[in-house]
Amino acid sequence: MCLICDRIKMIKDGANPYFVKELETGYVVIGDNQHFHGYTLFLYKHHGDKTELFHLETTERAKFLEEMTVVAEAVSRAFGAEKINYELLGMGDAHLHWHLFPRVNGDIENYGNNGRGPVWWYPMEKMYSDDNRPSKGQLADMKNRLLAELEKLI
Ligand SMILES: [Zn+2]
Repeated sequence: MCLICDRIKMIKDGANPYFVKELETGYVVIGDNQHFHGYTLFLYKHHGDKTELFHLETTERAKFLEEMTVVAEAVSRAFGAEKINYELLGMGDAHLHWHLFPRVNGDIENYGNNGRGPVWWYPMEKMYSDDNRPSKGQLADMKNRLLAELEKLI
């Protein structure tokens, strides 16, 4: 079973509290853990055998990339990033999904190269700690801010 498909089913059932907005090619959701404040995902609508960008038809790929870019800009405006980091991984769940990390100086403490480097140089147990899950109120506020920025750009 695919975790991303599960989350999309929850969106369709109206039961995903992290859901922000549906776009043509995917769904915008706030990340479960918020060590990197504003961490957002963009979940491609379809799974099946299309697990690489190069599996998508040219027009579909262009639209998916364009929409992801718009989401990244909205995340940056909503949460005040110094830099957005983009990840399309899929070794856990092959379903195409973008991880969009708003980065600010000092956000990996002294890990990595004296505090500089990719998010995955920050310890997994700290990144996924229950301590940095947003409260219901924080989540509502984040969703509102992101939705407002998305609607200005779309
Ligand atoms: Zn899936």
